[in-house]
Amino acid sequence: MSNPSLLILAGDGIGPEVMDQVKRIIGWYGDKRGLNFDVSEDLVGGAAYDKHGVPLTDETMAKAQEVDAVLLGAVGGPAYDNLDFSVKPERGLLRLRKEMDLFANLRPAQCFDALADFSSLKKDIVAGLDIMIVRELTSGVYFGEPRGIHIEDNMRVGINTQRYTEAEIERGARAAFDMAMKRNKKLCSMEKANVMESGILWRDVVTEVHADYPEVELTHMYADNGAMQLVRAPKQFDVIYTDNLFGDILSDCAAMLTGSLGMLPSASLGSPMANGRPKAMYEPVHGSAPDITGQEKANPIACILSFAMALRYSFDQGEEATRLEAAIEKVLADGARTGDLMGPEGGTPLSTSQMGDVILAALDASL
Ligand code: NAD
Repeated sequence: MSNPSLLILAGDGIGPEVMDQVKRIIGWYGDKRGLNFDVSEDLVGGAAYDKHGVPLTDETMAKAQEVDAVLLGAVGGPAYDNLDFSVKPERGLLRLRKEMDLFANLRPAQCFDALADFSSLKKDIVAGLDIMIVRELTSGVYFGEPRGIHIEDNMRVGINTQRYTEAEIERGARAAFDMAMKRNKKLCSMEKANVMESGILWRDVVTEVHADYPEVELTHMYADNGAMQLVRAPKQFDVIYTDNLFGDILSDCAAMLTGSLGMLPSASLGSPMANGRPKAMYEPVHGSAPDITGQEKANPIACILSFAMALRYSFDQGEEATRLEAAIEKVLADGARTGDLMGPEGGTPLSTSQMGDVILAALDASL
């Protein structure tokens, strides 16, 4: 059987720096665990624009459609801020998400004990936190028609439309229930069924899908209450399923419970391919961080944790994903810190590649 295939799109700014550490980890799995991947690399974002005049070529898009998973670093930077909207680096990312039809965005919010002091919440509220937000990514108010700004009675009116079909709600719900089955079998669906018809439909469809997942405990919550509960008692949740707009806000809120942007991975999944694997792209939540680019200061953990998600969700290597996450937990517990994780007590931060070194050493020690 051929090796699973990975397309690496490191992108701009710190993207290539953090991805270099992921490449070392991928190499480790080949050398030490006999887990080999067919890795190819290509350009996205400003790097693709510089070479080809577009943020993603048709050839790269076609490759992304063929591989088992895409790993993306970050896109964007000040050099591209004034480009025409159609060729801005972010357009490359949006094209990948749209054409691969990646409808389920997985955003874990996990608090490593060693970093619990970094949260803006009290330590006991976040220590041990491990929740997963599944956000519908390809529909809802960001895409609904009609939209635009027009004149009515001599006044400008801005319009966006929240629109969901039951099929769109259902496929995301199945992804969320599947996720709950792999975790603690608890799913909380969040909408605003009290004031939005799309919310009523959302609640109905999620309840219908629940019939196929009797082992999962399903609850419903209004999204505004969900925001409150996330900061009041976040550990009450296991998996949260919500729409594109609420998910955008709630996942950022949940992310900040855990401290630094440099720690946050994500996955975006689509429908299963012929080989049964879902279409998938894995990427850190952070951007290209132009303020620290080229200085070996970037924290590579978000990108490495994104690869751990690929191991778990694309390659059925849950145990190896846990090994990698445990290695990261271990180095943090031992005090390894990049600059973004330094507390007021100070100390000497590790460089990007030094953080890679200690994680590789912890992986070796796990054998
Ligand atoms: P950013 O995430 O790049 O940076 C925000 C702050 O967090 C910066 O101070 C940065 O130094 C720090 N930071 C981010 N990641 C870090 C890491 N791994 N280690 C240490 N520190 C880290 O957000 P921004 O500054 O708003 O945007 C910069 C560029 O990135 C813009 O062009 C923006 O459009 C783009 N962007 C891209 C993505 C993406 O590729 N998915 C996401 C967000 C922003």
